[in-house]
Amino acid sequence: FPAKLLDKGTTIFTVMSALAAEHGAINLGQGFPDFGADERLLRLLGEAALAGHNQYPPMTGLPALRQAIAAKTNALYGSHYDADTDITVTAGGTQSLYTALQACVGAGDEVIILEPSYDSYEPSIRAAGASAIGVPMTAEYRIDWDRVRASLTPRTRALVINTPHNPSGRIATHEDMLTLQALAEQHDLFVVSDEVYEHMVYDGARHHSVAAYPQLAARSFLCGSFGKTFHVTGWKIGYVAAPQKLTAAFRAFHQFTVFTVFSPAQHALAAYLADPAPWQGLSAFYQAKRDTFRTALAATPLKLLPCDGTYFQTVDYSAVSSLPEADFARWLTTEVGVAAIPLSVFYQQPLDRRHVRFCFAKKDETLATAIGRLQKAL
Ligand code: PMP
Ligand code: GLN
Repeated sequence: FPAKLLDKGTTIFTVMSALAAEHGAINLGQGFPDFGADERLLRLLGEAALAGHNQYPPMTGLPALRQAIAAKTNALYGSHYDADTDITVTAGGTQSLYTALQACVGAGDEVIILEPSYDSYEPSIRAAGASAIGVPMTAEYRIDWDRVRASLTPRTRALVINTPHNPSGRIATHEDMLTLQALAEQHDLFVVSDEVYEHMVYDGARHHSVAAYPQLAARSFLCGSFGKTFHVTGWKIGYVAAPQKLTAAFRAFHQFTVFTVFSPAQHALAAYLADPAPWQGLSAFYQAKRDTFRTALAATPLKLLPCDGTYFQTVDYSAVSSLPEADFARWLTTEVGVAAIPLSVFYQQPLDRRHVRFCFAKKDETLATAIGRLQKAL
């Protein structure tokens, strides 16, 4: 039997969450909030189920939700996505990314991914029959466009970009997006753009979406997720926005993978999106947590890397230990009682670095306890 993807083992998020639970460690590994979502959203979910919205919604997603996504995206980025032909509701960002890649690449194609890269890209590309070409980012986790250019071949079909970037917390600049646009046009590439952290950018910075660049949007699958934005990672509702032709290819796969996704959540989100306050306030909410966390870690020998967005903080621990990243993350979890994610898992060929990622999407008291443990042990 063709043992596809078995070599990937179990994802680091499952492994580290299990290890954290086993050792009673505070889980700053897997990225999810330990606080509740807005009660209004939760009530909308219950109301939708009680109102009888419990049968299959349309394959492409609930029209009201597609309209809300198109309206929000177009207002934010000046794009022109049509709710009927350009938006599809998915089972989270993971499925948007997976299905977008199945739709646009195949056997013999190469897809550029920027490493460190989120762990689902490489297996999704391989599942499509294509090869993932990992291009390392710079030491400070900026996109190294010279290396990207040097990695292009006649077989390069697509590039995956992720901004704000997991795990580094960096964001792409306007210049990055212009460079991407020029390269994609020159080499006729599809772009799969993972923007699930679009509403978490700090210090007054702006998120630069592919949607804001018309020639780029014309060849891009914009992948979003409500899990991050509304503190409901377990709902697994996301979407893809892409021009009609790309969306048609996307839906050809979507209808035979999930067909459609959880109806009550689609109703709840459609109603909840009418109020922009929840996502407009998200950057300020997480920036305060980032600042608390960074200020406290600055009193340890850990070296903080820049964090412009997402809810992740990457640190260099070389002043503390020479253990490889996976071993250090295990040691932190089992001996210090704070779980982290080693950056090595985000590379096909890990670099000789000493970096781990912490998630700061936690209650202030959770962060305070984690900080206390780290300050005492390091
Ligand atoms: N992309 C990135 C960069 C992520 O961090 C995540 C989730 N942590 C996803 C995609 C997947 O999103 P979802 O949970 O909605 O599937
Ligand atoms: N995206 C989350 C992270 O980076 C985890 C998602 C998952 O568990 N697959 O931590």
